[in-house]
Amino acid sequence: MTASMKSAAPPSVSVRDASKLYASSGGELNWAMTGVDLDIGQGEFVCAIGPSGCGKTTLLNMIAGFIQPTTGTVTAGGQRVSGPGADRGVVFQEYALFPWLTARKNIEFGLKMQGLDAATRRRRADELLVLTGLSHAATRFPFELSGGMRQRIAVARALATQPQVLLMDEPFAAIDALTRTSLQRELLRIWQELKLSVFFITHNIEEAVFLAQRVVVMSAHPGRIREIVDIDLPYPRDRADPAFGELYARIGAAFAQPEEASA
Ligand code: ADP
Ligand code: MG
Repeated sequence: MTASMKSAAPPSVSVRDASKLYASSGGELNWAMTGVDLDIGQGEFVCAIGPSGCGKTTLLNMIAGFIQPTTGTVTAGGQRVSGPGADRGVVFQEYALFPWLTARKNIEFGLKMQGLDAATRRRRADELLVLTGLSHAATRFPFELSGGMRQRIAVARALATQPQVLLMDEPFAAIDALTRTSLQRELLRIWQELKLSVFFITHNIEEAVFLAQRVVVMSAHPGRIREIVDIDLPYPRDRADPAFGELYARIGAAFAQPEEASA
């Protein structure tokens, strides 16, 4: 497939002029993010990158519905986002698995909340174990799994409710480099197979260029979108391709620009 999947379909997620003002416990006010406009197309893979504290998690939490924007709006599937929903699955950096549940029961958790019967839950969890290559680990507990396996289970759990959008907050940041590249390839396979929209936050330019169709480069204090870079490379991508290196350098340069003097 090609990198470009632009179509006439309405966007899966729309963020319009969104800002977030936080108050610290001391009462100090801090604009974590201002004036963010972003559309994530149906089936599109978008990465966001930027320095620590630039509001990446704030933006993802807004789309997830965990927090509300101070100004502006977020819509998902044409509906105004007012809280979390089964249409948006979330994967966090830390392994947010329940330690007292097996891999399969972790995947089933959201389905139990939805009131699905045991047989349906089991069937869907087993399909996701196959999709993520972890059928052999169905009855293991998180402490019996490697970091990479735990994140595969976290992805399977996020996919259990059959979301249209997968939101991932630095999901592979704590994973060793070799496992990380195989998780990246698996994520691309799952994205293509399920035709998901993905919003993926990373600190890692190479990861963004390997995965995304568009890379959103953010700047800090307050968080803003500095530039959106199209990654017009076919999949699977080759890190040794000179065009890969050029895009890497271009994002690196956007990243490294000094903050505006008004900040
Ligand atoms: P990133 O994910 O890019 O590192 P965050 O979205 O976590 O950035 O944070 C952006 C800014 O908002 C930071 O300055 C952070 O300290 C502040 N912030 C984040 N969450 C809260 C909160 N719940 N209360 C107050 N300030 C917050
Ligand atoms: Mg963050």
